[in-house]
Amino acid sequence: VEVPVLGPVILAASRSDKMRRFVSAAPGTKQVVDRFIAGETVDQVIPVVEDAAAKGLEVTLDVVGEDITTVEQSYAARDAYLELIGRLKELGLGTRAEMSVKLSMFGQALEGGHELALANVRPVVEAAAAIGTTVTLDAEDHTTLDSMFAIHEELRKDFPDTGCVIQAYLFRTEDDARRLAEAGSRVRIVKGAYKEPASVAYQDKAEIDKAFVRILKILMAGKGYPMIGSHDPRLIAITKELARQAGRAMDEYEFQMLYGIRSDEHLRLAAEGHRMRVYTAYGTDWYGYFMRRLAEKPANLMFFARSILTK
Ligand code: FAD
Repeated sequence: VEVPVLGPVILAASRSDKMRRFVSAAPGTKQVVDRFIAGETVDQVIPVVEDAAAKGLEVTLDVVGEDITTVEQSYAARDAYLELIGRLKELGLGTRAEMSVKLSMFGQALEGGHELALANVRPVVEAAAAIGTTVTLDAEDHTTLDSMFAIHEELRKDFPDTGCVIQAYLFRTEDDARRLAEAGSRVRIVKGAYKEPASVAYQDKAEIDKAFVRILKILMAGKGYPMIGSHDPRLIAITKELARQAGRAMDEYEFQMLYGIRSDEHLRLAAEGHRMRVYTAYGTDWYGYFMRRLAEKPANLMFFARSILTK
């Protein structure tokens, strides 16, 4: 069932505390959340990383959480990533797993948040580099992006392979892609998952897809390392063709998909020899992440509603 109008409604609910309490307490929730969230603790996510590695998949790990309200919570977010990186180091998994971070969880929206987020993310990037891996800065809503790109640029002075995400639905993104498509850069291109106004973003799916292809062309023709974050079969086919036209070998770009979504396709692309990285979210503060997954595919919402009603 595709009900296009539901997406924005779910995204609006993703910012509501009342809905957060309702959804979190609903009896069928956990079963549906488990499809998208790989566990609540480091101990639970490590076997998932090991399993992915055994299947020839890479991962990027996201400790879920966003929209924090205190400085202490921002330190806790930093510490959660440091704990994770410590465990990956002990287990020698550093080269299979990179980190994805949301700067909002590092305090970006608090007073003095730009500096706070930079101060919190820097030790995470340092610790990741020390075990031979990297960090990618996720893209959140459009009001946060100037700060995110400035932090990205700052981090790249010492850690040039720090990645960032750009969103095809935003009008600004072609310019960002041109600026970022330089040697040594790592850029993930996605369609975009937030509720954005028509003044800054395409609203129509076909327009977003066309913009995605234009941006993909810029990244593939550039000198950086494109990371294609999409489950869309058409865009995956187009990526392969553009990579071929640009003369890129399979290790000069990678595909990325979300944990729990089109898992067969993860394995199929890896079996073809592509680098496939699974964005693996874990932790207890899963509400925002989970609601965006529901908004992307209203059929998920139907499944969720059924599982609540039948409990
Ligand atoms: P769609 O057209 O939405 O989906 C194509 C097909 O994939 C669907 O028909 C369906 O079969 C399947 N599918 C897609 N989503 C779901 C779902 N939730 N449940 C079940 N099936 C589904 N967005 C940001 O704004 N910022 C980020 O930093 C960010 N990072 C991302 C990282 C990765 C690795 C990925 C894969 C996505 C990320 N996203 C991010 C989300 C992205 O913006 C899209 O919302 C999401 O990927 C859905 O778009 P799609 O390209 O898969 O295409």
